[in-house]
Amino acid sequence: MTATPSRDLTVTEVRLTPVLVADPPLLNTQGVHQPYTPRLIVEVVTADGISGLGETYGDTKYLELARPLADRLVGHRVDDLNRLFAGADEVAVDAARVSGQVDVGGLRGVQTAGKLRLSVLSALEVACLDALGKSLGLPVHALLGGKVRDAVEYSAYLFYKWAEHPEGVPAEKDDWGAAVDPAGVVEQARRFTERYGFTSFKLKGGVFPPEEEIAAVRALAAAFPGHPLRLDPNGAWSVETSLKVAEELGDVLEYLEDPALGTPAMAEVAAGTDVPLATNMCVTTFAEIEEAFTRDAVQVVLSDHHYWGGLRNTQHLAAICRTFGVGVSMHSNTHLGISLAAMTHVASTVPDLHHACDSHYPWQSEDVLTERMTFEDGTVRVSDAPGLGVELDRDRLAFLHRRWLDDDGALRDRDDAAAMRIADPDWVRPAVPRW
Ligand SMILES: [Mg+2]
Repeated sequence: MTATPSRDLTVTEVRLTPVLVADPPLLNTQGVHQPYTPRLIVEVVTADGISGLGETYGDTKYLELARPLADRLVGHRVDDLNRLFAGADEVAVDAARVSGQVDVGGLRGVQTAGKLRLSVLSALEVACLDALGKSLGLPVHALLGGKVRDAVEYSAYLFYKWAEHPEGVPAEKDDWGAAVDPAGVVEQARRFTERYGFTSFKLKGGVFPPEEEIAAVRALAAAFPGHPLRLDPNGAWSVETSLKVAEELGDVLEYLEDPALGTPAMAEVAAGTDVPLATNMCVTTFAEIEEAFTRDAVQVVLSDHHYWGGLRNTQHLAAICRTFGVGVSMHSNTHLGISLAAMTHVASTVPDLHHACDSHYPWQSEDVLTERMTFEDGTVRVSDAPGLGVELDRDRLAFLHRRWLDDDGALRDRDDAAAMRIADPDWVRPAVPRW
Protein backbone atom coordinates (compact mmCIF):
# COMPACT_ATOMS: atom_id res chain seq x y z
CA MET A 1 0.00 0.00 0.00
CA THR A 2 1.34 3.40 -0.93
CA ALA A 3 1.25 6.04 1.76
CA THR A 4 -0.42 9.33 0.89
CA PRO A 5 2.23 11.99 0.52
CA SER A 6 2.15 14.25 3.53
CA ARG A 7 1.04 17.78 2.87
CA ASP A 8 1.42 20.78 5.05
CA LEU A 9 -1.77 22.76 4.60
CA THR A 10 -0.85 25.29 7.27
CA VAL A 11 -1.40 28.88 6.19
CA THR A 12 1.86 30.78 6.41
CA GLU A 13 0.79 34.02 4.77
CA VAL A 14 -2.33 35.82 3.57
CA ARG A 15 -1.72 38.49 0.94
CA LEU A 16 -4.33 41.21 0.62
CA THR A 17 -4.18 43.36 -2.50
CA PRO A 18 -6.76 46.09 -3.07
CA VAL A 19 -7.30 47.00 -6.71
CA LEU A 20 -9.38 49.46 -8.71
CA VAL A 21 -11.09 48.03 -11.79
CA ALA A 22 -12.77 49.89 -14.62
CA ASP A 23 -16.55 50.08 -14.35
CA PRO A 24 -18.64 51.51 -17.18
CA PRO A 25 -21.28 54.20 -16.54
CA LEU A 26 -24.23 51.96 -15.67
CA LEU A 27 -27.28 53.61 -14.15
CA ASN A 28 -29.18 52.47 -11.09
CA THR A 29 -31.77 54.14 -8.92
CA GLN A 30 -29.09 55.92 -6.89
CA GLY A 31 -27.38 57.44 -9.93
CA VAL A 32 -24.11 56.41 -11.57
CA HIS A 33 -21.01 55.25 -9.70
CA GLN A 34 -17.35 56.20 -10.19
CA PRO A 35 -15.44 54.92 -13.24
CA TYR A 36 -13.43 52.50 -11.09
CA THR A 37 -14.61 50.11 -8.39
CA PRO A 38 -12.53 48.80 -5.48
CA ARG A 39 -12.08 45.04 -5.11
CA LEU A 40 -9.87 43.09 -2.74
CA ILE A 41 -7.81 40.17 -4.05
CA VAL A 42 -6.88 37.59 -1.40
CA GLU A 43 -4.06 35.05 -1.67
CA VAL A 44 -3.72 32.36 0.97
CA VAL A 45 -0.29 30.69 0.92
CA THR A 46 0.37 27.31 2.57
CA ALA A 47 3.58 25.92 4.04
CA ASP A 48 3.87 23.80 0.89
CA GLY A 49 3.90 26.97 -1.19
CA ILE A 50 0.43 26.46 -2.63
CA SER A 51 -1.49 29.67 -3.19
CA GLY A 52 -5.29 29.98 -3.17
CA LEU A 53 -7.29 32.92 -4.56
CA GLY A 54 -10.32 34.78 -3.29
CA GLU A 55 -12.02 38.09 -4.08
CA THR A 56 -14.43 40.42 -2.31
CA TYR A 57 -15.48 44.06 -1.95
CA GLY A 58 -12.52 46.38 -1.61
CA ASP A 59 -14.04 49.44 0.09
CA THR A 60 -12.26 50.76 3.19
CA LYS A 61 -14.68 49.16 5.63
CA TYR A 62 -13.84 45.72 4.19
CA LEU A 63 -10.09 46.38 4.06
CA GLU A 64 -10.10 47.36 7.73
CA LEU A 65 -11.54 43.97 8.62
CA ALA A 66 -9.55 41.93 6.14
CA ARG A 67 -6.19 42.18 7.92
CA PRO A 68 -7.34 41.11 11.40
CA LEU A 69 -9.49 38.31 9.94
CA ALA A 70 -6.67 37.15 7.67
CA ASP A 71 -4.23 37.15 10.59
CA ARG A 72 -6.50 34.69 12.42
CA LEU A 73 -6.03 32.25 9.57
CA VAL A 74 -2.24 32.26 9.70
CA GLY A 75 -1.00 29.17 11.53
CA HIS A 76 -4.24 27.25 10.84
CA ARG A 77 -4.82 24.82 8.02
CA VAL A 78 -6.81 25.73 4.91
CA ASP A 79 -9.29 23.00 5.86
CA ASP A 80 -9.90 24.56 9.28
CA LEU A 81 -12.63 26.88 8.01
CA ASN A 82 -15.34 26.24 10.59
CA ARG A 83 -13.07 27.42 13.37
CA LEU A 84 -12.23 30.57 11.39
CA PHE A 85 -15.91 31.39 10.99
CA ALA A 86 -16.80 30.47 14.59
CA GLY A 87 -14.27 32.89 16.02
CA ALA A 88 -14.84 35.75 13.59
CA ASP A 89 -17.12 37.67 15.98
CA GLU A 90 -14.06 38.37 18.10
CA VAL A 91 -12.84 40.73 15.39
CA ALA A 92 -14.31 44.11 16.25
CA VAL A 93 -16.11 46.14 13.62
CA ASP A 94 -15.88 49.90 13.85
CA ALA A 95 -19.39 50.97 14.86
CA ALA A 96 -19.15 53.99 12.57
CA ARG A 97 -19.01 51.58 9.63
CA VAL A 98 -22.31 49.95 10.50
CA SER A 99 -25.37 51.95 9.66
CA GLY A 100 -27.99 49.31 10.42
CA GLN A 101 -29.75 50.88 7.44
CA VAL A 102 -30.11 49.68 3.89
CA ASP A 103 -26.71 49.95 2.30
CA VAL A 104 -27.89 52.26 -0.48
CA GLY A 105 -24.45 52.59 -1.99
CA GLY A 106 -24.17 48.88 -2.52
CA LEU A 107 -27.88 48.18 -3.01
CA ARG A 108 -27.46 44.93 -1.14
CA GLY A 109 -29.65 45.16 1.92
CA VAL A 110 -29.18 46.26 5.50
CA GLN A 111 -25.62 46.72 6.61
CA THR A 112 -24.58 44.91 9.79
CA ALA A 113 -21.28 44.08 11.48
CA GLY A 114 -21.90 40.39 10.86
CA LYS A 115 -22.44 40.97 7.17
CA LEU A 116 -19.25 42.98 6.85
CA ARG A 117 -17.30 40.16 8.49
CA LEU A 118 -18.96 37.53 6.30
CA SER A 119 -18.13 39.53 3.17
CA VAL A 120 -14.45 39.32 4.08
CA LEU A 121 -14.63 35.73 5.31
CA SER A 122 -16.14 34.70 1.98
CA ALA A 123 -12.91 35.65 0.18
CA LEU A 124 -10.79 33.84 2.78
CA GLU A 125 -12.99 30.76 2.49
CA VAL A 126 -12.81 30.72 -1.31
CA ALA A 127 -9.03 31.18 -1.20
CA CYS A 128 -8.68 28.31 1.29
CA LEU A 129 -10.87 26.04 -0.84
CA ASP A 130 -8.83 26.96 -3.91
CA ALA A 131 -5.60 26.10 -2.06
CA LEU A 132 -7.07 22.89 -0.63
CA GLY A 133 -8.31 21.82 -4.05
CA LYS A 134 -4.93 22.50 -5.64
CA SER A 135 -3.24 20.55 -2.88
CA LEU A 136 -5.55 17.54 -3.27
CA GLY A 137 -5.84 17.74 -7.06
CA LEU A 138 -9.60 18.30 -6.77
CA PRO A 139 -11.84 21.05 -8.15
CA VAL A 140 -13.62 23.28 -5.64
CA HIS A 141 -16.99 21.82 -6.62
CA ALA A 142 -15.72 18.40 -5.49
CA LEU A 143 -14.86 19.85 -2.08
CA LEU A 144 -18.48 21.06 -1.90
CA GLY A 145 -19.86 17.59 -2.61
CA GLY A 146 -19.59 17.56 -6.37
CA LYS A 147 -21.28 19.23 -9.31
CA VAL A 148 -24.74 18.25 -10.49
CA ARG A 149 -24.33 20.11 -13.81
CA ASP A 150 -21.41 20.69 -16.15
CA ALA A 151 -22.29 24.29 -17.04
CA VAL A 152 -23.98 27.11 -15.12
CA GLU A 153 -26.40 29.39 -16.89
CA TYR A 154 -26.08 33.17 -16.52
CA SER A 155 -28.46 35.91 -17.58
CA ALA A 156 -27.65 38.99 -19.62
CA TYR A 157 -27.49 41.81 -17.08
CA LEU A 158 -28.88 44.80 -18.97
CA PHE A 159 -28.40 48.34 -17.72
CA TYR A 160 -29.48 51.76 -18.75
CA LYS A 161 -26.14 53.22 -19.63
CA TRP A 162 -24.41 56.39 -20.73
CA ALA A 163 -22.03 56.19 -23.67
CA GLU A 164 -19.23 57.33 -21.39
CA HIS A 165 -18.45 58.75 -17.98
CA PRO A 166 -18.84 62.52 -17.58
CA GLU A 167 -16.39 64.68 -19.49
CA GLY A 168 -13.17 65.40 -17.66
CA VAL A 169 -13.39 62.28 -15.47
CA PRO A 170 -10.54 59.83 -16.15
CA ALA A 171 -12.13 56.57 -17.24
CA GLU A 172 -11.62 53.58 -19.53
CA LYS A 173 -13.63 53.62 -22.75
CA ASP A 174 -16.05 50.84 -23.62
CA ASP A 175 -17.67 49.92 -26.89
CA TRP A 176 -21.22 49.31 -25.64
CA GLY A 177 -22.57 52.76 -26.40
CA ALA A 178 -25.53 54.35 -24.66
CA ALA A 179 -28.82 52.72 -23.66
CA VAL A 180 -31.38 55.14 -22.30
CA ASP A 181 -34.59 54.04 -23.99
CA PRO A 182 -36.33 50.80 -25.08
CA ALA A 183 -34.49 50.66 -28.42
CA GLY A 184 -31.13 51.06 -26.66
CA VAL A 185 -31.97 48.32 -24.17
CA VAL A 186 -32.98 45.92 -26.96
CA GLU A 187 -29.80 46.73 -28.88
CA GLN A 188 -27.73 46.03 -25.77
CA ALA A 189 -29.59 42.73 -25.29
CA ARG A 190 -28.83 41.74 -28.89
CA ARG A 191 -25.14 42.35 -28.34
CA PHE A 192 -25.26 40.24 -25.19
CA THR A 193 -26.79 37.35 -27.12
CA GLU A 194 -24.35 37.72 -30.01
CA ARG A 195 -21.27 37.93 -27.81
CA TYR A 196 -22.18 35.48 -25.06
CA GLY A 197 -25.26 33.53 -26.11
CA PHE A 198 -27.39 34.59 -23.14
CA THR A 199 -31.02 33.60 -23.43
CA SER A 200 -32.50 35.24 -20.34
CA PHE A 201 -32.42 38.95 -19.59
CA LYS A 202 -32.47 41.12 -16.51
CA LEU A 203 -32.92 44.87 -16.73
CA LYS A 204 -31.68 47.04 -13.88
CA GLY A 205 -34.58 49.42 -13.32
CA GLY A 206 -35.56 52.13 -10.87
CA VAL A 207 -33.80 54.59 -13.18
CA PHE A 208 -36.62 56.06 -15.26
CA PRO A 209 -40.32 56.41 -14.47
CA PRO A 210 -41.98 52.97 -14.38
CA GLU A 211 -43.91 53.55 -17.64
CA GLU A 212 -40.60 53.86 -19.51
CA GLU A 213 -39.21 50.72 -17.93
CA ILE A 214 -42.42 48.83 -18.67
CA ALA A 215 -41.99 49.90 -22.30
CA ALA A 216 -38.39 48.64 -22.28
CA VAL A 217 -39.43 45.23 -20.95
CA ARG A 218 -42.26 45.10 -23.50
CA ALA A 219 -39.71 45.86 -26.23
CA LEU A 220 -37.49 43.03 -24.94
CA ALA A 221 -40.45 40.67 -24.92
CA ALA A 222 -41.23 41.59 -28.52
CA ALA A 223 -37.60 41.17 -29.61
CA PHE A 224 -37.02 37.93 -27.69
CA PRO A 225 -40.41 36.23 -27.48
CA GLY A 226 -40.69 33.55 -24.80
CA HIS A 227 -37.34 34.34 -23.18
CA PRO A 228 -37.20 34.79 -19.38
CA LEU A 229 -37.22 38.50 -18.43
CA ARG A 230 -36.66 40.19 -15.08
CA LEU A 231 -36.84 43.77 -13.89
CA ASP A 232 -35.02 45.01 -10.76
CA PRO A 233 -35.66 48.58 -9.54
CA ASN A 234 -33.81 48.03 -6.22
CA GLY A 235 -36.82 48.87 -4.07
CA ALA A 236 -37.54 52.15 -5.85
CA TRP A 237 -41.30 51.67 -6.07
CA SER A 238 -44.21 51.93 -3.66
CA VAL A 239 -46.42 48.88 -3.13
CA GLU A 240 -49.04 50.46 -5.39
CA THR A 241 -46.55 51.10 -8.20
CA SER A 242 -45.09 47.61 -7.80
CA LEU A 243 -48.54 46.08 -8.19
CA LYS A 244 -49.23 48.20 -11.25
CA VAL A 245 -45.99 47.09 -12.93
CA ALA A 246 -46.67 43.47 -11.97
CA GLU A 247 -50.11 43.73 -13.54
CA GLU A 248 -48.79 45.26 -16.75
CA LEU A 249 -45.85 42.89 -17.18
CA GLY A 250 -47.23 39.77 -15.52
CA ASP A 251 -47.44 37.87 -18.81
CA VAL A 252 -43.77 38.29 -19.69
CA LEU A 253 -41.86 38.41 -16.39
CA GLU A 254 -40.00 35.43 -14.97
CA TYR A 255 -39.90 37.43 -11.73
CA LEU A 256 -39.90 40.96 -10.41
CA GLU A 257 -36.84 41.70 -8.29
CA ASP A 258 -37.07 43.90 -5.16
CA PRO A 259 -39.85 46.12 -6.52
CA ALA A 260 -40.43 47.60 -3.04
CA LEU A 261 -38.05 48.00 -0.15
CA GLY A 262 -38.14 45.68 2.86
CA THR A 263 -39.99 42.54 3.82
CA PRO A 264 -43.32 44.14 4.90
CA ALA A 265 -43.68 46.00 1.59
CA MET A 266 -42.57 42.95 -0.41
CA ALA A 267 -45.15 40.84 1.47
CA GLU A 268 -47.87 43.31 0.50
CA VAL A 269 -46.82 43.18 -3.14
CA ALA A 270 -46.60 39.39 -3.09
CA ALA A 271 -50.12 39.16 -1.65
CA GLY A 272 -51.47 41.19 -4.55
CA THR A 273 -49.85 39.49 -7.55
CA ASP A 274 -49.04 36.08 -8.96
CA VAL A 275 -45.75 37.37 -10.40
CA PRO A 276 -42.94 35.78 -8.33
CA LEU A 277 -40.82 38.23 -6.36
CA ALA A 278 -37.06 37.82 -6.07
CA THR A 279 -34.74 39.60 -3.66
CA ASN A 280 -31.15 40.38 -2.90
CA MET A 281 -32.18 43.22 -0.60
CA CYS A 282 -34.69 42.03 2.02
CA VAL A 283 -33.22 38.55 2.53
CA THR A 284 -29.46 39.00 2.74
CA THR A 285 -28.69 37.25 6.03
CA PHE A 286 -29.87 34.07 7.74
CA ALA A 287 -31.60 36.23 10.38
CA GLU A 288 -33.86 37.79 7.73
CA ILE A 289 -35.15 34.48 6.37
CA GLU A 290 -37.78 33.63 8.96
CA GLU A 291 -39.91 36.74 8.62
CA ALA A 292 -39.69 36.85 4.83
CA PHE A 293 -40.54 33.19 4.34
CA THR A 294 -43.25 33.15 7.01
CA ARG A 295 -44.94 36.12 5.34
CA ASP A 296 -44.43 34.64 1.87
CA ALA A 297 -42.78 37.92 0.89
CA VAL A 298 -40.33 36.41 -1.61
CA GLN A 299 -40.44 33.46 -3.98
CA VAL A 300 -36.80 33.54 -5.12
CA VAL A 301 -33.73 34.42 -3.04
CA LEU A 302 -30.75 35.70 -4.99
CA SER A 303 -27.79 34.45 -3.03
CA ASP A 304 -24.42 36.16 -3.14
CA HIS A 305 -21.51 34.21 -1.74
CA HIS A 306 -19.76 37.46 -0.82
CA TYR A 307 -22.22 38.75 1.73
CA TRP A 308 -23.76 35.41 2.70
CA GLY A 309 -20.29 34.34 3.81
CA GLY A 310 -18.92 31.99 1.21
CA LEU A 311 -19.69 28.91 -0.81
CA ARG A 312 -20.70 26.62 2.03
CA ASN A 313 -23.12 29.21 3.42
CA THR A 314 -24.57 29.53 -0.08
CA GLN A 315 -25.25 25.80 -0.02
CA HIS A 316 -26.88 26.16 3.43
CA LEU A 317 -29.06 28.97 2.11
CA ALA A 318 -30.07 26.85 -0.87
CA ALA A 319 -31.07 24.01 1.47
CA ILE A 320 -33.25 26.35 3.56
CA CYS A 321 -34.88 27.73 0.42
CA ARG A 322 -35.55 24.20 -0.79
CA THR A 323 -37.18 23.36 2.56
CA PHE A 324 -39.58 26.27 2.25
CA GLY A 325 -40.27 25.85 -1.47
CA VAL A 326 -38.52 29.11 -2.25
CA GLY A 327 -36.40 29.33 -5.41
CA VAL A 328 -32.76 30.27 -5.38
CA SER A 329 -30.46 31.95 -7.84
CA MET A 330 -27.52 34.35 -7.69
CA HIS A 331 -27.06 38.09 -7.33
CA SER A 332 -24.06 39.97 -8.66
CA ASN A 333 -22.23 43.21 -8.02
CA THR A 334 -19.17 44.32 -9.94
CA HIS A 335 -16.76 41.37 -9.72
CA LEU A 336 -13.79 39.78 -11.42
CA GLY A 337 -13.05 36.29 -12.70
CA ILE A 338 -12.03 34.81 -9.35
CA SER A 339 -15.53 35.44 -8.04
CA LEU A 340 -17.17 34.26 -11.27
CA ALA A 341 -15.23 31.00 -10.94
CA ALA A 342 -16.31 30.69 -7.29
CA MET A 343 -19.96 31.43 -8.18
CA THR A 344 -19.84 28.83 -10.94
CA HIS A 345 -18.40 26.12 -8.68
CA VAL A 346 -21.02 26.58 -5.97
CA ALA A 347 -23.88 27.04 -8.45
CA SER A 348 -22.90 23.74 -10.05
CA THR A 349 -23.55 21.97 -6.73
CA VAL A 350 -27.02 23.41 -6.02
CA PRO A 351 -29.52 20.82 -7.25
CA ASP A 352 -32.55 23.03 -7.78
CA LEU A 353 -31.15 26.12 -9.42
CA HIS A 354 -34.02 26.99 -11.73
CA HIS A 355 -33.09 30.53 -12.73
CA ALA A 356 -30.05 31.79 -14.63
CA CYS A 357 -27.57 33.53 -12.30
CA ASP A 358 -26.70 37.21 -12.57
CA SER A 359 -23.18 38.33 -13.39
CA HIS A 360 -21.61 41.72 -14.05
CA TYR A 361 -18.58 40.04 -15.57
CA PRO A 362 -19.31 40.99 -19.21
CA TRP A 363 -19.17 44.64 -18.07
CA GLN A 364 -15.69 44.19 -16.56
CA SER A 365 -13.08 44.71 -19.25
CA GLU A 366 -10.25 44.26 -16.74
CA ASP A 367 -9.29 41.20 -14.73
CA VAL A 368 -6.46 39.76 -12.68
CA LEU A 369 -6.47 36.35 -14.40
CA THR A 370 -4.05 35.08 -17.02
CA GLU A 371 -7.10 34.00 -19.06
CA ARG A 372 -10.51 35.59 -18.87
CA MET A 373 -13.49 33.43 -17.97
CA THR A 374 -15.70 32.82 -21.00
CA PHE A 375 -19.41 32.37 -21.62
CA GLU A 376 -20.66 29.85 -24.18
CA ASP A 377 -24.35 29.72 -25.03
CA GLY A 378 -24.97 31.88 -21.97
CA THR A 379 -23.19 29.46 -19.65
CA VAL A 380 -19.86 29.08 -17.91
CA ARG A 381 -18.46 25.55 -18.02
CA VAL A 382 -17.67 24.13 -14.61
CA SER A 383 -13.93 23.61 -14.32
CA ASP A 384 -12.61 20.20 -13.25
CA ALA A 385 -9.09 21.53 -12.82
CA PRO A 386 -7.74 21.56 -9.24
CA GLY A 387 -9.07 24.40 -7.09
CA LEU A 388 -11.04 27.15 -8.81
CA GLY A 389 -9.24 26.45 -12.08
CA VAL A 390 -8.02 30.02 -12.56
CA GLU A 391 -4.56 31.56 -12.48
CA LEU A 392 -3.43 34.94 -11.19
CA ASP A 393 -1.71 37.32 -13.58
CA ARG A 394 0.72 39.10 -11.26
CA ASP A 395 1.48 41.88 -13.73
CA ARG A 396 -2.20 42.71 -14.07
CA LEU A 397 -2.66 42.54 -10.32
CA ALA A 398 0.26 44.93 -9.83
CA PHE A 399 -1.12 47.31 -12.47
CA LEU A 400 -4.59 47.47 -10.90
CA HIS A 401 -3.08 47.76 -7.42
CA ARG A 402 -0.92 50.64 -8.62
CA ARG A 403 -4.10 52.43 -9.70
CA TRP A 404 -5.44 51.95 -6.16
CA LEU A 405 -2.19 53.22 -4.62
CA ASP A 406 -2.20 56.28 -6.88
CA ASP A 407 -5.79 57.18 -5.99
CA ASP A 408 -6.20 60.03 -3.54
CA GLY A 409 -9.14 58.30 -1.89
CA ALA A 410 -11.88 59.46 -4.25
CA LEU A 411 -12.30 55.99 -5.71
CA ARG A 412 -11.53 53.76 -2.78
CA ASP A 413 -15.11 53.66 -1.54
CA ARG A 414 -17.83 52.93 -4.05
CA ASP A 415 -20.39 55.68 -4.32
CA ASP A 416 -23.35 54.85 -6.54
CA ALA A 417 -24.17 58.51 -7.10
CA ALA A 418 -20.67 59.96 -7.66
CA ALA A 419 -20.66 60.18 -11.46
CA MET A 420 -24.27 61.34 -11.53
CA ARG A 421 -23.37 64.25 -9.23
CA ILE A 422 -20.67 65.30 -11.69
CA ALA A 423 -23.08 65.17 -14.62
CA ASP A 424 -25.81 66.85 -12.55
CA PRO A 425 -24.45 68.90 -9.62
CA ASP A 426 -27.98 69.20 -8.17
CA TRP A 427 -28.40 65.43 -8.00
CA VAL A 428 -29.33 64.03 -4.60
CA ARG A 429 -29.92 60.39 -3.84
CA PRO A 430 -33.64 59.86 -4.46
CA ALA A 431 -35.81 59.13 -1.46
CA VAL A 432 -37.44 55.69 -1.47
CA PRO A 433 -40.00 54.92 -2.75
CA ARG A 434 -39.04 57.04 -5.71
CA TRP A 435 -42.22 56.29 -7.60
MG1 LIG B 1 -31.11 43.09 -7.22
